[in-house]
Amino acid sequence: MPKSTPKTPKIAVVGGGIAGLAAAYELTEQGYQVVVFEQESFAGGRMRTVKRDGFNFDGGASFLAANYYNLKRYAQDLGVEWVATRPGSIHRVLRDGKMHELSIASPLSILRMSFLPFSARLKLLGWLLALKLKRFKINLFDLSELPDSLFGIDLVTYMDEKIHPDATTYLADAFTSIMQFHRAKDITAGALVAYFKMMMTKGEEFALSYTPRGMGEIPTRMAEKLDVRYKTRVKLIRPARGRVEVQFDSGKKQFFDKVILATTAAVGVKIVDPVYKDHLKILSNTEYSSTVTIGIEVDQKEIPAQYHLNYVPYKENQRIGGYGNEYRKPGATPPGKSLISLYLHEETAVEVLDWPDIKIFEKLKLELPFIFPELDPKKAKLHSIQKWWEAMPKFTPEHIIRVKWFQRTHQGDKNLYLAGDYMNGPWTEGASRTGVKAAQQVIEDLSRN
Ligand SMILES: Cc1cc2nc3c(=O)[nH]c(=O)nc-3n(C[C@H](O)[C@H](O)[C@H](O)COP(=O)(O)OP(=O)(O)OC[C@H]3O[C@@H](n4cnc5c(N)ncnc54)[C@H](O)[C@@H]3O)c2cc1C
Repeated sequence: MPKSTPKTPKIAVVGGGIAGLAAAYELTEQGYQVVVFEQESFAGGRMRTVKRDGFNFDGGASFLAANYYNLKRYAQDLGVEWVATRPGSIHRVLRDGKMHELSIASPLSILRMSFLPFSARLKLLGWLLALKLKRFKINLFDLSELPDSLFGIDLVTYMDEKIHPDATTYLADAFTSIMQFHRAKDITAGALVAYFKMMMTKGEEFALSYTPRGMGEIPTRMAEKLDVRYKTRVKLIRPARGRVEVQFDSGKKQFFDKVILATTAAVGVKIVDPVYKDHLKILSNTEYSSTVTIGIEVDQKEIPAQYHLNYVPYKENQRIGGYGNEYRKPGATPPGKSLISLYLHEETAVEVLDWPDIKIFEKLKLELPFIFPELDPKKAKLHSIQKWWEAMPKFTPEHIIRVKWFQRTHQGDKNLYLAGDYMNGPWTEGASRTGVKAAQQVIEDLSRN
Protein backbone atom coordinates (compact mmCIF):
# COMPACT_ATOMS: atom_id res chain seq x y z
CA MET A 1 0.00 0.00 0.00
CA PRO A 2 -0.70 2.39 -1.58
CA LYS A 3 -0.94 0.60 -4.94
CA SER A 4 -1.17 3.77 -7.03
CA THR A 5 -0.19 7.44 -6.72
CA PRO A 6 -2.33 9.61 -4.39
CA LYS A 7 -5.26 11.47 -5.95
CA THR A 8 -6.14 14.94 -4.75
CA PRO A 9 -9.56 14.90 -2.99
CA LYS A 10 -9.33 15.33 0.76
CA ILE A 11 -11.20 12.63 2.63
CA ALA A 12 -11.75 12.23 6.37
CA VAL A 13 -12.97 9.30 8.39
CA VAL A 14 -14.40 10.10 11.82
CA GLY A 15 -13.91 7.15 14.20
CA GLY A 16 -11.07 4.62 14.25
CA GLY A 17 -13.08 1.48 15.02
CA ILE A 18 -12.94 -1.40 12.58
CA ALA A 19 -15.54 0.21 10.24
CA GLY A 20 -13.60 3.47 10.00
CA LEU A 21 -10.25 1.71 9.61
CA ALA A 22 -11.65 -0.55 6.87
CA ALA A 23 -12.96 2.52 5.02
CA ALA A 24 -9.61 4.30 5.31
CA TYR A 25 -7.68 1.15 4.36
CA GLU A 26 -9.78 0.69 1.21
CA LEU A 27 -9.36 4.34 0.18
CA THR A 28 -5.62 4.32 0.88
CA GLU A 29 -5.21 1.11 -1.14
CA GLN A 30 -6.90 2.85 -4.05
CA GLY A 31 -4.46 5.75 -3.80
CA TYR A 32 -6.61 8.35 -2.03
CA GLN A 33 -5.43 10.63 0.74
CA VAL A 34 -7.40 9.96 3.88
CA VAL A 35 -7.08 10.98 7.49
CA VAL A 36 -8.78 9.21 10.40
CA PHE A 37 -9.85 11.16 13.50
CA GLU A 38 -10.08 9.05 16.65
CA GLN A 39 -10.98 10.38 20.07
CA GLU A 40 -9.06 7.73 22.02
CA SER A 41 -5.31 7.16 22.17
CA PHE A 42 -5.73 3.77 20.44
CA ALA A 43 -7.62 2.36 17.45
CA GLY A 44 -10.19 -0.44 17.41
CA GLY A 45 -13.18 0.94 19.33
CA ARG A 46 -15.19 -2.06 20.52
CA MET A 47 -12.41 -4.36 19.27
CA ARG A 48 -9.83 -4.06 22.02
CA THR A 49 -7.79 -6.10 24.48
CA VAL A 50 -6.89 -5.49 28.12
CA LYS A 51 -3.51 -7.13 28.78
CA ARG A 52 -2.76 -7.75 32.46
CA ASP A 53 -1.15 -10.41 34.68
CA GLY A 54 -0.57 -12.70 31.70
CA PHE A 55 -4.19 -12.57 30.54
CA ASN A 56 -5.35 -11.12 27.21
CA PHE A 57 -8.90 -10.08 28.03
CA ASP A 58 -10.98 -9.24 24.96
CA GLY A 59 -13.66 -7.33 26.83
CA GLY A 60 -15.42 -6.14 23.67
CA ALA A 61 -15.43 -8.31 20.56
CA SER A 62 -14.10 -11.65 21.62
CA PHE A 63 -14.19 -14.05 18.67
CA LEU A 64 -13.72 -14.09 14.93
CA ALA A 65 -14.98 -16.86 12.66
CA ALA A 66 -13.29 -18.61 9.78
CA ASN A 67 -15.68 -16.93 7.33
CA TYR A 68 -14.75 -13.39 8.39
CA TYR A 69 -13.20 -13.10 4.93
CA ASN A 70 -12.67 -9.34 4.96
CA LEU A 71 -10.90 -9.28 8.34
CA LYS A 72 -8.92 -12.34 7.31
CA ARG A 73 -7.65 -10.41 4.29
CA TYR A 74 -6.36 -7.63 6.59
CA ALA A 75 -4.74 -10.18 8.87
CA GLN A 76 -2.96 -11.77 5.91
CA ASP A 77 -1.89 -8.39 4.49
CA LEU A 78 -0.52 -7.26 7.84
CA GLY A 79 1.06 -10.51 8.99
CA VAL A 80 -1.34 -10.93 11.93
CA GLU A 81 -1.61 -14.54 13.06
CA TRP A 82 -5.17 -15.92 12.76
CA VAL A 83 -5.95 -19.28 14.39
CA ALA A 84 -8.88 -21.52 15.25
CA THR A 85 -9.82 -21.90 18.90
CA ARG A 86 -9.07 -25.24 20.62
CA PRO A 87 -10.94 -28.08 18.87
CA GLY A 88 -13.88 -29.88 20.46
CA SER A 89 -15.77 -26.94 22.01
CA ILE A 90 -19.02 -27.64 23.83
CA HIS A 91 -21.73 -24.97 23.89
CA ARG A 92 -24.40 -25.10 26.55
CA VAL A 93 -27.80 -23.61 27.41
CA LEU A 94 -29.14 -23.16 30.94
CA ARG A 95 -32.60 -24.53 31.62
CA ASP A 96 -34.14 -25.13 35.05
CA GLY A 97 -30.79 -24.45 36.69
CA LYS A 98 -28.96 -27.12 34.67
CA MET A 99 -26.65 -26.77 31.68
CA HIS A 100 -27.63 -28.68 28.52
CA GLU A 101 -25.51 -29.19 25.41
CA LEU A 102 -26.34 -27.19 22.29
CA SER A 103 -25.10 -28.44 18.94
CA ILE A 104 -26.57 -28.45 15.45
CA ALA A 105 -23.63 -30.43 14.06
CA SER A 106 -25.76 -33.46 13.16
CA PRO A 107 -29.43 -34.61 13.23
CA LEU A 108 -28.55 -36.72 16.27
CA SER A 109 -27.09 -33.77 18.19
CA ILE A 110 -30.27 -31.77 17.45
CA LEU A 111 -32.44 -34.63 18.71
CA ARG A 112 -30.32 -34.68 21.88
CA MET A 113 -31.01 -31.03 22.80
CA SER A 114 -32.45 -31.83 26.21
CA PHE A 115 -33.41 -28.20 26.90
CA LEU A 116 -36.27 -28.54 24.37
CA PRO A 117 -39.27 -30.88 24.49
CA PHE A 118 -38.90 -33.74 22.00
CA SER A 119 -41.63 -32.42 19.71
CA ALA A 120 -39.75 -29.10 19.45
CA ARG A 121 -36.49 -30.91 18.65
CA LEU A 122 -38.22 -32.76 15.78
CA LYS A 123 -39.65 -29.53 14.42
CA LEU A 124 -36.29 -27.80 14.75
CA LEU A 125 -34.60 -30.64 12.88
CA GLY A 126 -37.17 -30.42 10.05
CA TRP A 127 -36.77 -26.64 9.88
CA LEU A 128 -32.97 -26.80 9.80
CA LEU A 129 -32.98 -29.50 7.10
CA ALA A 130 -35.40 -27.41 4.99
CA LEU A 131 -33.20 -24.35 5.54
CA LYS A 132 -30.15 -26.28 4.42
CA LEU A 133 -31.83 -27.27 1.17
CA LYS A 134 -33.42 -23.88 0.48
CA ARG A 135 -31.71 -21.79 -2.19
CA PHE A 136 -31.52 -18.15 -1.26
CA LYS A 137 -28.81 -15.60 -1.00
CA ILE A 138 -27.63 -15.16 2.56
CA ASN A 139 -25.08 -12.85 3.98
CA LEU A 140 -25.09 -12.49 7.73
CA PHE A 141 -22.60 -9.66 7.45
CA ASP A 142 -24.83 -7.52 5.25
CA LEU A 143 -28.40 -7.78 6.47
CA SER A 144 -29.47 -5.41 3.67
CA GLU A 145 -29.10 -8.40 1.36
CA LEU A 146 -31.59 -10.62 3.22
CA PRO A 147 -34.64 -11.68 1.24
CA ASP A 148 -37.63 -9.40 2.08
CA SER A 149 -39.65 -12.39 3.35
CA LEU A 150 -37.08 -12.95 6.11
CA PHE A 151 -36.23 -9.57 7.53
CA GLY A 152 -39.79 -8.23 7.83
CA ILE A 153 -40.63 -10.34 10.89
CA ASP A 154 -39.22 -10.38 14.43
CA LEU A 155 -37.54 -13.47 15.83
CA VAL A 156 -40.09 -14.19 18.58
CA THR A 157 -43.07 -14.24 16.21
CA TYR A 158 -41.10 -16.34 13.74
CA MET A 159 -39.84 -18.98 16.20
CA ASP A 160 -43.18 -19.27 18.04
CA GLU A 161 -44.86 -19.92 14.73
CA LYS A 162 -42.28 -22.11 12.98
CA ILE A 163 -41.01 -24.22 15.86
CA HIS A 164 -42.15 -23.96 19.48
CA PRO A 165 -42.36 -21.28 22.21
CA ASP A 166 -39.60 -23.15 24.10
CA ALA A 167 -37.33 -22.75 21.07
CA THR A 168 -38.05 -19.03 21.29
CA THR A 169 -37.04 -18.92 24.96
CA TYR A 170 -34.15 -21.38 25.07
CA LEU A 171 -32.70 -20.99 21.59
CA ALA A 172 -33.66 -17.64 20.05
CA ASP A 173 -33.70 -15.58 23.25
CA ALA A 174 -30.62 -17.38 24.56
CA PHE A 175 -28.81 -16.67 21.30
CA THR A 176 -29.60 -12.95 21.30
CA SER A 177 -28.79 -12.67 25.02
CA ILE A 178 -25.18 -13.74 24.54
CA MET A 179 -24.58 -12.63 20.95
CA GLN A 180 -26.42 -9.29 21.03
CA PHE A 181 -27.14 -8.63 24.75
CA HIS A 182 -30.85 -8.04 24.11
CA ARG A 183 -34.05 -10.04 23.79
CA ALA A 184 -35.23 -11.89 20.68
CA LYS A 185 -38.12 -9.51 20.05
CA ASP A 186 -35.58 -6.81 19.11
CA ILE A 187 -34.06 -8.60 16.14
CA THR A 188 -35.26 -9.62 12.70
CA ALA A 189 -35.84 -13.35 12.23
CA GLY A 190 -33.58 -13.04 9.19
CA ALA A 191 -30.49 -12.57 11.38
CA LEU A 192 -30.88 -15.97 13.08
CA VAL A 193 -31.93 -17.66 9.85
CA ALA A 194 -28.84 -16.24 8.12
CA TYR A 195 -26.66 -17.40 11.04
CA PHE A 196 -27.93 -20.98 10.90
CA LYS A 197 -27.97 -21.06 7.09
CA MET A 198 -24.37 -19.88 7.02
CA MET A 199 -23.29 -22.53 9.52
CA MET A 200 -24.88 -25.23 7.38
CA THR A 201 -23.76 -24.00 3.96
CA LYS A 202 -21.11 -26.07 2.25
CA GLY A 203 -17.94 -24.07 1.78
CA GLU A 204 -18.76 -21.65 4.59
CA GLU A 205 -16.44 -22.17 7.50
CA PHE A 206 -17.81 -20.98 10.79
CA ALA A 207 -15.11 -22.27 13.13
CA LEU A 208 -14.49 -19.75 15.91
CA SER A 209 -11.10 -18.11 15.53
CA TYR A 210 -8.98 -15.46 17.21
CA THR A 211 -5.78 -13.47 16.90
CA PRO A 212 -3.39 -14.69 19.62
CA ARG A 213 -2.14 -11.23 20.61
CA GLY A 214 -5.73 -10.17 21.29
CA MET A 215 -8.62 -8.73 19.30
CA GLY A 216 -6.96 -5.33 19.24
CA GLU A 217 -4.20 -6.68 17.00
CA ILE A 218 -5.85 -6.26 13.58
CA PRO A 219 -7.05 -2.66 14.18
CA THR A 220 -3.71 -1.72 15.74
CA ARG A 221 -1.75 -3.02 12.74
CA MET A 222 -4.19 -1.39 10.29
CA ALA A 223 -3.88 1.96 12.03
CA GLU A 224 -0.08 1.79 11.75
CA LYS A 225 -0.48 1.85 7.96
CA LEU A 226 -2.88 4.80 8.00
CA ASP A 227 -2.83 8.47 8.93
CA VAL A 228 -4.67 8.29 12.25
CA ARG A 229 -4.89 11.37 14.48
CA TYR A 230 -5.44 10.11 18.00
CA LYS A 231 -7.01 12.02 20.87
CA THR A 232 -8.83 14.11 18.29
CA ARG A 233 -12.50 14.31 19.13
CA VAL A 234 -14.82 15.62 16.45
CA LYS A 235 -17.62 17.80 17.79
CA LEU A 236 -19.44 18.93 14.62
CA ILE A 237 -19.80 17.87 11.01
CA ARG A 238 -21.63 20.23 8.68
CA PRO A 239 -21.87 21.04 4.98
CA ALA A 240 -19.86 24.07 3.80
CA ARG A 241 -20.04 25.33 0.22
CA GLY A 242 -19.85 21.98 -1.55
CA ARG A 243 -17.44 20.54 1.03
CA VAL A 244 -17.72 19.31 4.60
CA GLU A 245 -16.53 21.21 7.65
CA VAL A 246 -15.22 19.13 10.55
CA GLN A 247 -14.87 20.88 13.90
CA PHE A 248 -12.79 19.51 16.75
CA ASP A 249 -12.95 19.81 20.52
CA SER A 250 -9.77 21.87 20.32
CA GLY A 251 -11.78 24.60 18.54
CA LYS A 252 -9.95 24.04 15.24
CA LYS A 253 -11.73 23.12 12.01
CA GLN A 254 -10.81 21.52 8.69
CA PHE A 255 -12.56 21.14 5.33
CA PHE A 256 -12.89 17.91 3.34
CA ASP A 257 -14.40 16.84 0.02
CA LYS A 258 -15.87 13.69 1.54
CA VAL A 259 -16.37 12.54 5.12
CA ILE A 260 -17.18 9.02 6.33
CA LEU A 261 -18.79 9.01 9.76
CA ALA A 262 -17.77 5.77 11.49
CA THR A 263 -18.63 6.44 15.13
CA THR A 264 -21.61 4.68 16.71
CA ALA A 265 -24.97 6.11 15.63
CA ALA A 266 -25.48 7.43 19.17
CA VAL A 267 -22.38 9.64 18.79
CA GLY A 268 -23.36 10.59 15.25
CA VAL A 269 -26.63 12.08 16.48
CA LYS A 270 -24.66 14.49 18.66
CA ILE A 271 -22.11 15.64 16.08
CA VAL A 272 -23.96 15.74 12.76
CA ASP A 273 -25.55 19.08 11.83
CA PRO A 274 -29.40 18.96 11.61
CA VAL A 275 -29.13 19.87 7.89
CA TYR A 276 -28.26 16.21 7.32
CA LYS A 277 -31.85 15.26 8.05
CA ASP A 278 -31.89 11.93 6.19
CA HIS A 279 -28.68 10.78 7.86
CA LEU A 280 -30.25 11.72 11.17
CA LYS A 281 -33.28 9.52 10.43
CA ILE A 282 -30.89 6.58 10.63
CA LEU A 283 -28.68 7.84 13.44
CA SER A 284 -31.45 8.91 15.80
CA ASN A 285 -33.57 5.80 15.22
CA THR A 286 -30.78 3.32 15.87
CA GLU A 287 -31.19 1.61 19.22
CA TYR A 288 -28.40 -0.18 21.06
CA SER A 289 -28.27 -2.86 23.70
CA SER A 290 -25.94 -2.15 26.62
CA THR A 291 -23.81 -4.65 28.45
CA VAL A 292 -21.00 -4.98 30.93
CA THR A 293 -18.29 -7.59 30.35
CA ILE A 294 -16.77 -8.98 33.52
CA GLY A 295 -13.48 -10.84 33.23
CA ILE A 296 -13.14 -13.40 36.03
CA GLU A 297 -9.91 -15.26 36.74
CA VAL A 298 -10.39 -18.87 37.83
CA ASP A 299 -8.21 -21.93 38.09
CA GLN A 300 -8.50 -23.85 34.87
CA LYS A 301 -9.81 -26.89 36.71
CA GLU A 302 -12.83 -24.89 37.93
CA ILE A 303 -14.44 -24.98 34.47
CA PRO A 304 -14.12 -28.01 32.21
CA ALA A 305 -11.70 -27.08 29.42
CA GLN A 306 -14.06 -27.88 26.57
CA TYR A 307 -16.93 -25.63 27.74
CA HIS A 308 -16.94 -22.62 25.50
CA LEU A 309 -20.05 -20.44 25.16
CA ASN A 310 -22.64 -20.79 27.89
CA TYR A 311 -26.06 -19.31 27.09
CA VAL A 312 -28.24 -18.01 29.92
CA PRO A 313 -31.75 -17.23 28.65
CA TYR A 314 -33.49 -14.28 30.27
CA LYS A 315 -36.12 -16.61 31.71
CA GLU A 316 -33.40 -18.40 33.70
CA ASN A 317 -31.56 -15.33 34.94
CA GLN A 318 -32.49 -11.70 34.44
CA ARG A 319 -28.99 -10.41 35.17
CA ILE A 320 -26.41 -12.53 33.37
CA GLY A 321 -26.91 -13.30 29.66
CA GLY A 322 -24.10 -15.81 29.36
CA TYR A 323 -20.38 -16.38 29.60
CA GLY A 324 -17.46 -17.50 27.51
CA ASN A 325 -14.33 -19.37 28.47
CA GLU A 326 -11.20 -17.59 27.25
CA TYR A 327 -9.18 -20.75 27.91
CA ARG A 328 -10.49 -21.86 24.50
CA LYS A 329 -7.97 -19.42 22.99
CA PRO A 330 -4.48 -20.87 23.56
CA GLY A 331 -2.17 -18.15 24.84
CA ALA A 332 -4.93 -15.87 26.14
CA THR A 333 -4.56 -17.16 29.71
CA PRO A 334 -1.48 -18.10 31.79
CA PRO A 335 -0.79 -21.84 32.37
CA GLY A 336 -3.32 -23.45 34.69
CA LYS A 337 -5.69 -20.46 34.54
CA SER A 338 -8.95 -19.67 32.78
CA LEU A 339 -10.63 -16.35 32.21
CA ILE A 340 -14.39 -16.31 32.21
CA SER A 341 -16.01 -13.44 30.34
CA LEU A 342 -19.44 -12.81 31.75
CA TYR A 343 -21.96 -10.67 29.82
CA LEU A 344 -24.89 -8.87 31.40
CA HIS A 345 -28.43 -8.64 30.07
CA GLU A 346 -29.16 -5.09 28.97
CA GLU A 347 -31.53 -4.15 31.83
CA THR A 348 -28.99 -5.04 34.49
CA ALA A 349 -26.20 -3.43 32.49
CA VAL A 350 -28.08 -0.13 32.38
CA GLU A 351 -28.65 -0.35 36.14
CA VAL A 352 -24.96 -0.89 37.00
CA LEU A 353 -23.03 0.88 34.21
CA ASP A 354 -22.16 3.83 36.44
CA TRP A 355 -21.17 1.75 39.44
CA PRO A 356 -17.54 1.19 40.51
CA ASP A 357 -16.14 -2.10 39.16
CA ILE A 358 -15.83 -3.79 42.51
CA LYS A 359 -19.46 -3.09 43.41
CA ILE A 360 -20.58 -4.60 40.08
CA PHE A 361 -18.45 -7.68 40.68
CA GLU A 362 -19.66 -8.20 44.24
CA LYS A 363 -23.29 -7.96 43.13
CA LEU A 364 -22.94 -10.28 40.16
CA LYS A 365 -20.90 -12.82 42.12
CA LEU A 366 -24.08 -13.63 44.04
CA GLU A 367 -25.65 -14.87 40.79
CA LEU A 368 -22.79 -17.23 39.91
CA PRO A 369 -24.13 -20.33 41.71
CA PHE A 370 -27.34 -20.10 39.67
CA ILE A 371 -25.74 -19.89 36.24
CA PHE A 372 -22.35 -21.53 36.63
CA PRO A 373 -22.86 -24.83 38.46
CA GLU A 374 -19.17 -25.87 38.38
CA LEU A 375 -17.71 -22.75 39.95
CA ASP A 376 -17.16 -22.07 43.62
CA PRO A 377 -17.78 -18.26 43.77
CA LYS A 378 -15.17 -17.95 46.55
CA LYS A 379 -12.52 -18.95 43.98
CA ALA A 380 -13.56 -16.28 41.44
CA LYS A 381 -11.22 -13.27 41.21
CA LEU A 382 -12.00 -10.11 39.28
CA HIS A 383 -9.62 -9.45 36.39
CA SER A 384 -11.23 -6.36 34.84
CA ILE A 385 -14.50 -4.92 33.62
CA GLN A 386 -15.50 -3.29 30.35
CA LYS A 387 -18.61 -1.13 30.17
CA TRP A 388 -20.59 -0.67 26.99
CA TRP A 389 -23.50 1.75 26.73
CA GLU A 390 -23.65 1.05 23.01
CA ALA A 391 -22.76 -2.62 22.79
CA MET A 392 -24.73 -3.84 19.79
CA PRO A 393 -27.20 -2.19 17.42
CA LYS A 394 -30.68 -3.68 17.49
CA PHE A 395 -31.38 -5.07 14.04
CA THR A 396 -35.15 -4.82 14.24
CA PRO A 397 -37.15 -5.37 11.04
CA GLU A 398 -37.83 -1.60 10.92
CA HIS A 399 -34.13 -0.79 11.31
CA ILE A 400 -33.13 -3.09 8.44
CA ILE A 401 -35.69 -1.45 6.15
CA ARG A 402 -34.63 2.10 7.11
CA VAL A 403 -30.95 1.41 6.46
CA LYS A 404 -31.73 -0.22 3.10
CA TRP A 405 -33.70 2.88 2.12
CA PHE A 406 -30.86 5.19 3.20
CA GLN A 407 -28.21 3.18 1.36
CA ARG A 408 -30.30 3.30 -1.84
CA THR A 409 -31.27 6.95 -1.74
CA HIS A 410 -29.21 9.11 0.63
CA GLN A 411 -25.78 7.59 1.32
CA GLY A 412 -23.29 10.34 0.42
CA ASP A 413 -25.81 13.20 0.36
CA LYS A 414 -23.96 16.47 0.93
CA ASN A 415 -20.71 14.45 0.90
CA LEU A 416 -21.38 12.60 4.17
CA TYR A 417 -21.33 8.78 4.28
CA LEU A 418 -22.30 6.48 7.14
CA ALA A 419 -20.36 3.35 8.17
CA GLY A 420 -20.48 1.15 11.27
CA ASP A 421 -22.09 -2.09 12.39
CA TYR A 422 -25.48 -0.35 12.72
CA MET A 423 -25.51 -0.01 8.90
CA ASN A 424 -26.83 -3.60 8.71
CA GLY A 425 -23.35 -5.06 9.22
CA PRO A 426 -23.33 -7.15 12.41
CA TRP A 427 -20.18 -7.79 14.40
CA THR A 428 -16.61 -6.90 13.51
CA GLU A 429 -16.78 -8.52 10.08
CA GLY A 430 -20.06 -6.80 9.19
CA ALA A 431 -18.79 -3.46 10.49
CA SER A 432 -15.63 -3.75 8.38
CA ARG A 433 -17.73 -4.49 5.32
CA THR A 434 -19.83 -1.35 5.88
CA GLY A 435 -16.56 0.61 5.88
CA VAL A 436 -15.46 -0.95 2.60
CA LYS A 437 -18.90 -0.31 1.09
CA ALA A 438 -18.86 3.36 2.14
CA ALA A 439 -15.34 3.81 0.73
CA GLN A 440 -16.37 2.24 -2.57
CA GLN A 441 -19.34 4.59 -2.75
CA VAL A 442 -17.04 7.57 -2.11
CA ILE A 443 -14.77 6.43 -4.95
CA GLU A 444 -17.73 5.92 -7.28
CA ASP A 445 -19.15 9.37 -6.47
CA LEU A 446 -15.76 11.05 -6.92
CA SER A 447 -15.33 9.42 -10.31
CA ARG A 448 -18.73 10.78 -11.39
CA ASN A 449 -17.95 14.39 -10.38
C1 LIG B 1 -19.11 -6.90 24.67
C2 LIG B 1 -19.05 -7.05 23.18
C3 LIG B 1 -18.76 -8.30 22.63
C4 LIG B 1 -18.69 -8.46 21.26
N1 LIG B 1 -18.34 -9.67 20.74
C5 LIG B 1 -18.07 -9.79 19.41
C6 LIG B 1 -17.45 -10.97 18.90
O1 LIG B 1 -17.14 -11.91 19.66
N2 LIG B 1 -17.19 -11.05 17.57
C7 LIG B 1 -17.47 -10.00 16.73
O2 LIG B 1 -17.17 -10.13 15.53
N3 LIG B 1 -18.05 -8.86 17.19
C8 LIG B 1 -18.33 -8.73 18.51
N4 LIG B 1 -18.85 -7.54 19.01
C9 LIG B 1 -19.29 -6.50 18.07
C10 LIG B 1 -18.14 -5.68 17.50
O3 LIG B 1 -17.25 -5.31 18.53
C11 LIG B 1 -18.71 -4.42 16.84
O4 LIG B 1 -19.75 -4.77 15.96
C12 LIG B 1 -17.65 -3.68 16.02
O5 LIG B 1 -16.42 -3.61 16.72
C13 LIG B 1 -18.17 -2.29 15.70
O6 LIG B 1 -17.19 -1.54 15.02
P1 LIG B 1 -17.49 -0.04 14.58
O7 LIG B 1 -16.26 0.43 13.89
O8 LIG B 1 -18.79 0.00 13.84
O9 LIG B 1 -17.74 0.80 15.91
P2 LIG B 1 -16.77 1.13 17.15
O10 LIG B 1 -15.84 0.00 17.39
O11 LIG B 1 -17.65 1.54 18.27
O12 LIG B 1 -15.89 2.37 16.64
C14 LIG B 1 -16.28 3.71 16.76
C15 LIG B 1 -15.03 4.55 16.98
O13 LIG B 1 -15.37 5.94 16.98
C16 LIG B 1 -14.61 6.61 17.97
N5 LIG B 1 -15.30 7.87 18.29
C17 LIG B 1 -16.47 8.02 18.97
N6 LIG B 1 -16.82 9.34 19.04
C18 LIG B 1 -15.86 10.03 18.38
C19 LIG B 1 -15.67 11.41 18.10
N7 LIG B 1 -16.55 12.34 18.49
N8 LIG B 1 -14.56 11.79 17.41
C20 LIG B 1 -13.64 10.86 16.98
N9 LIG B 1 -13.78 9.54 17.24
C21 LIG B 1 -14.88 9.11 17.91
C22 LIG B 1 -14.58 5.59 19.11
O14 LIG B 1 -13.56 5.87 20.05
C23 LIG B 1 -14.36 4.30 18.34
O15 LIG B 1 -12.99 4.03 18.14
C24 LIG B 1 -18.93 -7.35 20.39
C25 LIG B 1 -19.24 -6.10 20.94
C26 LIG B 1 -19.28 -5.95 22.32
C27 LIG B 1 -19.57 -4.60 22.91
